[in-house]
Amino acid sequence: RRGSSDRQARTRWIFAGQLGPLFDDGGPMMLIEARSVFGRRPMHRAKAHLILSALRHRAAELGDRAEFHQVERYADVVDGRDDLEVIDPTSWRARRFVRSRGMAVLPSRGFVTSEEEFREWADSRGDGRLLMEDFYRAVRERTGILMRGEDPRGRQNPEGGQWNYDHDNRNPPPKSAATLGLPHPWWPEEDEIDAEVRRDLDRWQKEGIVQLVGDDGPRRFAATAVEAERALADFVESRLGDFGPFEDAMLSGDWTMSHSLLSAPMNLGLIDPRHVLDTVVAEYHAGNAPLSSVEGYVRQIAGWRDYVWHLYWHLGESYPTRSNALRATAPLPDAFLRLDADAIESNCLRETIDGMRRHGWAHHIQRLMVLGNWALQHGYDPAALSDWFIDMFVDGTPWVMPVNVVGMSQHADGGIVATKPYASGGAYINRMSDYCGGCRFDPKVRLGENACPFTAGYWAFLDRTEPLLRGNHRMAQPLAGLRRLADRDAVVDQERHRESW
Ligand code: SF4
Repeated sequence: RRGSSDRQARTRWIFAGQLGPLFDDGGPMMLIEARSVFGRRPMHRAKAHLILSALRHRAAELGDRAEFHQVERYADVVDGRDDLEVIDPTSWRARRFVRSRGMAVLPSRGFVTSEEEFREWADSRGDGRLLMEDFYRAVRERTGILMRGEDPRGRQNPEGGQWNYDHDNRNPPPKSAATLGLPHPWWPEEDEIDAEVRRDLDRWQKEGIVQLVGDDGPRRFAATAVEAERALADFVESRLGDFGPFEDAMLSGDWTMSHSLLSAPMNLGLIDPRHVLDTVVAEYHAGNAPLSSVEGYVRQIAGWRDYVWHLYWHLGESYPTRSNALRATAPLPDAFLRLDADAIESNCLRETIDGMRRHGWAHHIQRLMVLGNWALQHGYDPAALSDWFIDMFVDGTPWVMPVNVVGMSQHADGGIVATKPYASGGAYINRMSDYCGGCRFDPKVRLGENACPFTAGYWAFLDRTEPLLRGNHRMAQPLAGLRRLADRDAVVDQERHRESW
């Protein structure tokens, strides 16, 4: 650590993932709003709005303590300066940039575990396998989160005696219910900064500086630390108890379900994930929330979120482009690129894409089992799909999507992140949602006019990837099922020529 006089001499440049108090050590700060960042690829309007709003709100909060530059490129401000320091930023590209300018770089923050702790853990794995479950347990032991302390033999035990409460969780939605019946989430109130952001986006779009997709507004995600705290309190009060049971359920009339809506503020650095976990765990200890929900939430943050962050660095910058184990090369269709659900007849996909158009967000099971499942079945290019998730989701960042999309959802890395592809037919969607009731297709039918594109698509996917998946013992059963399918050729032929989906 450098001395305090050194700290005083430097100005800390904070990025859009570092906008909360966790990244502020009291010295002078600098924020840069660089227009070119928003023009690199098409982006969801709600995402552009959220980032700009969060940056401008932070600049306003810091007042005289911060320089705030609104420029074309980062280089316009930082080139020629030798007084800058950064907390290590969150993308390969940004890290290259700050190092190329010789800035002082402090260790990253904003996760439950440090990069050094992950490296120690990874080095300790004798077999080289970096399984999420093993990592998660090591984080629990290291941090003491939801741990009971040592038993008489000196071993640490998980709270409740189990590491995993999945058997209590992941229920289907309540039958015949349009919503989960929870109070609607707390929403931020927009202010003059949001209005100005909206005016600027209109102008930039008109001038061709940005290509924006989807609707903008009202803003639904926290853009300041105070708003993030309010969103956390609302989640804990209204939805935490139902988080576990319904974390995988989907309902047409309930876009937020029991989810926390904290991924975007966490990825903007507005709220410390460790504080989120301490708050949630305190609810369990106070008897206000069941262990199954609390452990399920802790697993998502201390387990999965930290895990994908560390793997982003561990697997290297070329991970998305070098990984294509299932040889998927199809381009994304216009319905995805423009978030235009009008031509989609599959109710589950139409509802999910339409929700994304409105909010720039969908919950994790819509991402994995509707969007990801569809892309997997249709062989969309995994790197292009990962970029699409980065650009179209308010919480999409370069570090969060590659492992989630390329690894977990598309199985493009051949089994580093997930042991088998997350492909499923309409039966899963039918069990976990109310989508099929309002659909013109039938999840039980794989051939003919009413054949569900997910059910038939599942078999067509297995047919296409059979030679590549033959060596995967977890796929032995599904592939045996494929070989028994009497109408296999007819289903494959139907999906090859499918026009309405
Ligand atoms: Fe989706 Fe098939 Fe169900 Fe329609 S029938 S909602 S396409 S799973």
